[in-house]
Amino acid sequence: MCGIVGYIGRQEAYPILIKGLHRLEYRGYDSAGVALVNPDNVLNVYKTRGKVEDLERFCDTKDVSGTVGIAHTRWATHGEPNDINAHPHFSTNGKIAIVHNGTIENYNVLKQALIEHDCEFRSETDTEVVVKLIEYIQSTNDCSLVDAVRGALKQVVGAYAIAVVDCEDPDMIIAARKSSPLVVGIGDHETFIGSDASPIIDYTNQVVYLGDDEIAIIRRDAPLQVINNDNIPAKIDVQTLELSVSQLEKGGYPHFMLKEIFEQPNTIYDCIRGRIVNNDTEIKLSGVIDHPDRFINASRVVIVACGTSWHAGLIGGRLIENYTRIPARVEYASEFRYANPVITSSDVVIAISQSGETADTLAAIKLAKERGAFVYGVCNVVGSSIARETDSGTYIHVGPEIGVASTKAFTGQVTVLTMLALAIGQLRGTVNKSQLLEAIANIKKLPELIRETLKLNDRIEKLSRTFTYAHNFLYLGRGYNYPSALEGALKLKEISYIHAEGYPAAEMKHGPIALIDKELPTVVIAPNDDLHEKVISNIQQVKARGGSVIAIVTKGDTEIPKIADYVLEIPPVAESVSPVVVSVPLQLLAYHIAIMKGCDVDMPRNLAKSVTVE
Ligand code: GLU
Repeated sequence: MCGIVGYIGRQEAYPILIKGLHRLEYRGYDSAGVALVNPDNVLNVYKTRGKVEDLERFCDTKDVSGTVGIAHTRWATHGEPNDINAHPHFSTNGKIAIVHNGTIENYNVLKQALIEHDCEFRSETDTEVVVKLIEYIQSTNDCSLVDAVRGALKQVVGAYAIAVVDCEDPDMIIAARKSSPLVVGIGDHETFIGSDASPIIDYTNQVVYLGDDEIAIIRRDAPLQVINNDNIPAKIDVQTLELSVSQLEKGGYPHFMLKEIFEQPNTIYDCIRGRIVNNDTEIKLSGVIDHPDRFINASRVVIVACGTSWHAGLIGGRLIENYTRIPARVEYASEFRYANPVITSSDVVIAISQSGETADTLAAIKLAKERGAFVYGVCNVVGSSIARETDSGTYIHVGPEIGVASTKAFTGQVTVLTMLALAIGQLRGTVNKSQLLEAIANIKKLPELIRETLKLNDRIEKLSRTFTYAHNFLYLGRGYNYPSALEGALKLKEISYIHAEGYPAAEMKHGPIALIDKELPTVVIAPNDDLHEKVISNIQQVKARGGSVIAIVTKGDTEIPKIADYVLEIPPVAESVSPVVVSVPLQLLAYHIAIMKGCDVDMPRNLAKSVTVE
């Protein structure tokens, strides 16, 4: 996590850096800081606990002049969020500053070695070790900053995206990465750095995604130079961004999360577009078409993901087994990577991540590749590390998701996984024509069904007032909507800090039923499907113990409204795609309860969007 911005050029750096930090604040907001080299070649470092707006206030009376600078918004991993641990960190002589995203695993060993050489440390961070190591190498070897950075990075174990400035060499920024993202934007006599393209898009659409172990040497008024840790020049691949500024703004909504919930009719449309072809008779995913043998001969599918993406993966696993008859298992990437899993060259591993930068998922991909599996990525951010590391894949194309709690990315992931399962089923001949046509028709209806479901917003807003008292919530669902229950509970936890548990409805009687009383609201996902009757019995069991029930039902349901306390009606939707529609009231419920409780829904405490650390 953490966001990095850098600028060198002819404009004042400070406003560009601050604007960039605001764009990257979704990545972390524990503290923020900036380092600028002023016209007298003095390095000024300003940093403070809190959000970017706190930094702006802090800098109000400071010298923020200079046309070169680096900045950071932090999600703490090493050391509590305070002023001292905030980035940038700087060398003992106060001349070199660094910002860092990632974790340095051997920081303690390096720190002890530097302490033995009389080096003093101010902060508890792993990052400070890197700048002190650069300074130490520079002074003992009397070498250039580039060589000192290279030397330091050779000793570092872990993940990093860094940017370094030195007021002794004020016409240069050095940036480097390994396992954490970094983008360089190439403008006219100016160069930008960002953890993603959002701080860059206002100024240029020409970008270079730095590769692992690459170091960018960015000099004022000179072409970009990229080398690897052994000083060998690397190929520079300049790409044109497709992102637009308007995609990054709130568009009249009070929060990104609400905007993103309401965008879903369009994002699902974009996600489907061009992938249902031949007069709606066929699914076309180029990632599958280009590698038919890997799917036809697959003996197993393993889905790896974290958080919300894992919930989408649980639905995807069921869909894949249903439509392709290939056994599928779904794993947390963080567990998979350390479990010594049995993976063979006939396995297809599907990695799901909104950002495409999730560190655990990336590590799982590397492991799967080492063991010969074919790795397929499902991510949102174009050009992200997962998109580049995988053998093939499908973008969900839902546009930038800024709200920390994922909404439109989840529904996009589920939609892509549905199409993926059908595309593989087509190839293997495990879905017949009528099944395929029916499934395609169901997918095509989704944007309209979501639009219809969004009309529940006002009702959910009113209903939410009733539940701000709750300290716990239970979410129940069955079949494809068991993962929807997990996701609904996660949304509530993330943004309202109310403890919530998702359960398969029938499992309730094996434990959670003990919790039910008047204080515990239960959300039951109960659309008309094969298990509807069973879910009605589960509701009865909750009611019999005095619990209150909010039920999500299909319009026209006559049974559940008689027993549930509150009913939210969604339009009729086919079971296999119902999680996409059911998600909408769950997202709105979490959003409105969090707002009623006065929580910052776009920046919930302790969380960050792109989890680029272990
Ligand atoms: N490890 C650094 C710190 O704690 C950066 C954290 C991160 O990128 O999430 O400050």
